[in-house]
Amino acid sequence: MSVVETKEVIKIPDWVWEYHGHICPFMPIGYRMGQIAMRELGVQRIGDHGAFGLSEMGVGHPQTCMIDGFEAATGCTYGKLMMERLNYGKAACTLFVPGKGAVRVYLKSVFQDELGKQEFFVYRKKGIEPSQIPREVTDTVVTLVLSTPEDEMFTISNLPDFTFGRPKSSFAKTKCSNCGEYVFERYVRMVDGKPYCIPCSEYTQTWVNVLKGVQ
Ligand SMILES: [Zn+2]
Ligand SMILES: [Zn+2]
Repeated sequence: MSVVETKEVIKIPDWVWEYHGHICPFMPIGYRMGQIAMRELGVQRIGDHGAFGLSEMGVGHPQTCMIDGFEAATGCTYGKLMMERLNYGKAACTLFVPGKGAVRVYLKSVFQDELGKQEFFVYRKKGIEPSQIPREVTDTVVTLVLSTPEDEMFTISNLPDFTFGRPKSSFAKTKCSNCGEYVFERYVRMVDGKPYCIPCSEYTQTWVNVLKGVQ
């Protein structure tokens, strides 16, 4: 009698592929990270506000597609200010749900090494976009990321002391005395007693202040 091994294959909903725009391995990795973090925190996909996704991705490296997958799985979208990029240049993402806790999911280095051997990256390193890569090559790498057991792919950590927040929303706005455009009040800069928008005032924002929402 033969034993047929069945591997669990994660299914990504069609709308998520459509939203992302091409087929690649990193979007589904982010989707899995989001699913894991939600399960660990005992939450469902978040429809309103009240949770934050903090991606450790930066710019200038090719794995950032992960963020779209994480957003789609968790509901932590940029537009709702529920997602932030920390610019550490690492393949990890944290889901923080105030009152429930925070979970960080890291794509194991050993799996990143395995992934890097895939033919898909021969094409990507030549600058070929995912949608131009032969479909069987793309399917092979996507199947790998959707069927590798969780413990071989991810390191999951609880972050008991993690905290993150945003300033309270306000509708108050003022017109810039130079360009005449509306500026939401917390972004108004006073120059010689007159209100200006940030570009007209030539104020320089720091990244730390942008992240803290106190710019
Ligand atoms: Zn992608
Ligand atoms: Zn202005």
